[in-house]
Amino acid sequence: MTAVTLGMPRVRGRAPAASPADGLAQGRPDTDALVDRYGRVARDLRISITEKCTLRCTYCMPAEGLPAIPREHLLTPVEIARLVRVAVGRLGITDVRFTGGEPLVRRDLAEILRLSRAAAPDVSLSMTTNAIGLDKRVDELVAAGLDRVNISLDSVDREDFARLTRRDRLPDVLAGVRAALAAGLAPVKLNAVLMPETVAGAVDLLAWAVDHGCHLRFIEQMPLDADGNWSRADLVSAADLLAVLGERFALTAVGRDDPSAPAEEWLVDGGPQTVGIIASVTRSFCGDCDRTRLTAEGTVRSCLFGDDETDLRAILRASDLDEDARDDAIARTWQGAMWVKPFAHGMDDAAPGRDPESFAATARSMGAIGG
Ligand code: SAM
Ligand code: SF4
Repeated sequence: MTAVTLGMPRVRGRAPAASPADGLAQGRPDTDALVDRYGRVARDLRISITEKCTLRCTYCMPAEGLPAIPREHLLTPVEIARLVRVAVGRLGITDVRFTGGEPLVRRDLAEILRLSRAAAPDVSLSMTTNAIGLDKRVDELVAAGLDRVNISLDSVDREDFARLTRRDRLPDVLAGVRAALAAGLAPVKLNAVLMPETVAGAVDLLAWAVDHGCHLRFIEQMPLDADGNWSRADLVSAADLLAVLGERFALTAVGRDDPSAPAEEWLVDGGPQTVGIIASVTRSFCGDCDRTRLTAEGTVRSCLFGDDETDLRAILRASDLDEDARDDAIARTWQGAMWVKPFAHGMDDAAPGRDPESFAATARSMGAIGG
């Protein structure tokens, strides 16, 4: 059996206090934006706020859940809002998305949103969620500043859902989707990861999404499951999925909304509804990636698949810095971390003869990074 841990990424500390041409940021142009060596600019920030979850999706979490992060290691609402303020005010971030684990597990989620909204009044604040319990909290969250939600829903078949998530909670998720729609959080996006055993249900899921006015996007399963069971042979690829959907729906390709949007869109039965397919494995979009990620413990991850992380929590809590110096150190360290973002998953280690379809496993699984 594979031992499950939160992972032991390589963690870097504070950037040296000197010119931007120093240390981590060698060769970096003089700009505030989160640029990298390949000309990409990160404008989309994903913040994981917990490793805990109400589901145990087999492609993400181990059956027993992830080991608990010690409470004192988790960022507080004040610390999260401070990072949002620096990211938006100084580093050019335009979209902030809370994720996990399951963000709704945090009882102080409304406080996180309220302080983040106050820190960055004009930024887009969204959340990726399994929607369990959303029906009871959506009004409070919208009042606190939530603009949009992406809800993960892999099947509308109760048995398939329970098998895949190891929990019989489909009715709770559907209640959450309906609550999001009723609260006016349009467009409500649904994210679905398919496994070979659930691919046949994809047509019913799309029909449900179309009926309820939700925008469904299928995501290829990436090798980020905590159990390490991912296998290329079992992948339900975008091509497999199109074949299955094509048996029920007429799909017309309409391309991507913008180059950094990972989903390729297809009109369903002539539209206006579309379905998105995110071919994260078979058609990597790393070249257009505009993301930067924070883990729940306050480290920057420049790439889903890179295990290098850079610690911001120590700066947030350093007693030798005044407020301005703290913000400067956060900004400089974050810029340095993004400057060395790898070009693509595993590509920095490319060796002659390497199988281009092989992917190195990461120390952290998706639930511990934040998808
Ligand atoms: N619990 C929330 C949820 O499920 O929406 C937020 C966290 S979850 C890690 C974020 C997204 O990552 C979900 O849409 C989930 O389907 C996706 N995800 C998790 N593991 C994945 C994997 N191995 N490959 C592709 N997507 C994955
Ligand atoms: Fe939980 Fe989301 Fe991972 Fe499913 S995908 S186990 S809901 S964190």
